[in-house]
Amino acid sequence: MRVLVVGLGKTGVSTARFLAEKGADVFITDEKPASEIEDAVCALSDLRVNLQTGGHRPEILSQIDLIVPSPGVPPFNGLLSEAVKRGIPVLSEVELAFRFLKIPMIAVTGTNGKTTTTTILREIFEKAGKKIFVGGNIGNPLIDYVNGEQKDEYVVAEISSFQLQWTSSFSPFISILLNTTRDHLNYHGTFEEYRSVKERIFKNQGKEDIAILNADDPLSLPLSERIRADVIRFSSSQKLDRGIFVDGGVLRYRDPKVGDEEYPIRMINIQGAHNVENVMAAVIASRRCGCPSSDIIAAVENFKGVPHRIEYAGQKGGVDFYDDSKATNVGAVASALLTFPGPIILLLGGLDKGGDFKILAGLIRARVKKLVLFGEAGRMINSLLGGVAPTTLVSSLREATLYACEHSSSGDVVLLSPGCASFDEFENYEERGRFFREIVE
Ligand code: ADP
Repeated sequence: MRVLVVGLGKTGVSTARFLAEKGADVFITDEKPASEIEDAVCALSDLRVNLQTGGHRPEILSQIDLIVPSPGVPPFNGLLSEAVKRGIPVLSEVELAFRFLKIPMIAVTGTNGKTTTTTILREIFEKAGKKIFVGGNIGNPLIDYVNGEQKDEYVVAEISSFQLQWTSSFSPFISILLNTTRDHLNYHGTFEEYRSVKERIFKNQGKEDIAILNADDPLSLPLSERIRADVIRFSSSQKLDRGIFVDGGVLRYRDPKVGDEEYPIRMINIQGAHNVENVMAAVIASRRCGCPSSDIIAAVENFKGVPHRIEYAGQKGGVDFYDDSKATNVGAVASALLTFPGPIILLLGGLDKGGDFKILAGLIRARVKKLVLFGEAGRMINSLLGGVAPTTLVSSLREATLYACEHSSSGDVVLLSPGCASFDEFENYEERGRFFREIVE
């Protein structure tokens, strides 16, 4: 087949290599000029591929049988819309990899908590001595894995909505949907569209498969009627006859396939009720794959969290500083605010992604002592939330951090939980988090 790979990032490079080695005629296009993606171009120098950088020529589609877009390419990209109009199939790298995958997959999706939950699963499976490959949105493209020998027992995959967008037969053995709140509307258009993309993780599952849902997420309730897989839920707020829930100091797990079990909540050493949810989802998946509960407890006890997710950044004068730079949407900010009873000095801002900041008003009123707004979105957030708590508008994260530091007193928490993307000031959220930590240090 003549296959066009759109976008030459890490996944694009791996996809092009995989396709070329399978005998496809590979075409690649990237909107950046070759000088900006030199490493990627170099990585393909041993292959015969047809590369167009600095944009694509519109006539390219007339030569193409199939398109594989990279995860960062928006669904409304002109080239993809035109391909759909012409009836050219579009498949994501995750779909392509799935078609060649020979071992069962545990797939984790949701607006927030994917990386944390995928990492908890990795720790548990490793503790239980099970061989797994961990990949997808968390770093290693799945397509790299299917090119190898596939000797592991499971693939644990973090799957983003971008990766689910162009799937058709994708069908994991276990699919986890952690939550669905507003995010990426700048890419998906409407919330309905975003939600329906997330649902695709269950679409092709059969009776022998497992669907793990959040019983407290109102958006997931109507979903279960449409799911053929064995549905099992987790909840922080309600008792369940079937599933896992918070019951005083324990997580009570009732599952006809596993039995009745309980896990001490104090085994969880990462902060926040949202992380209890991530652990509950991981308990179901790992028990259903035969990991012993003693290994689950030991692995969870040992888990110290993933960097830039409400990560402790230090203390000065009785003030605690936390780096939650990965909170790039309002749902993640809400869970960070719920983690600390207060008083919080909240650093909010960056590049807006279409988030509904107004939903934070109640939590900010109750817990935030000072709101420090920065970056490109600062002014917009100020118009929505400025009256809710004492607010200061500054231009950069540096100014925001220094202001927070000067206006804090012993017992406060200074929390960088920006609710926005980082690209107005930084290369990515990691760089933003590191920069914050440097100032704090
Ligand atoms: P993702 O991979 O989905 O972006 P991460 O685990 O990287 O998720 O966490 C991203 C942000 O979301 C962090 O700010 C983190 O504190 C927050 N978060 C993690 N788990 C949850 C959850 N279950 N619900 C809400 N927020 C969460």
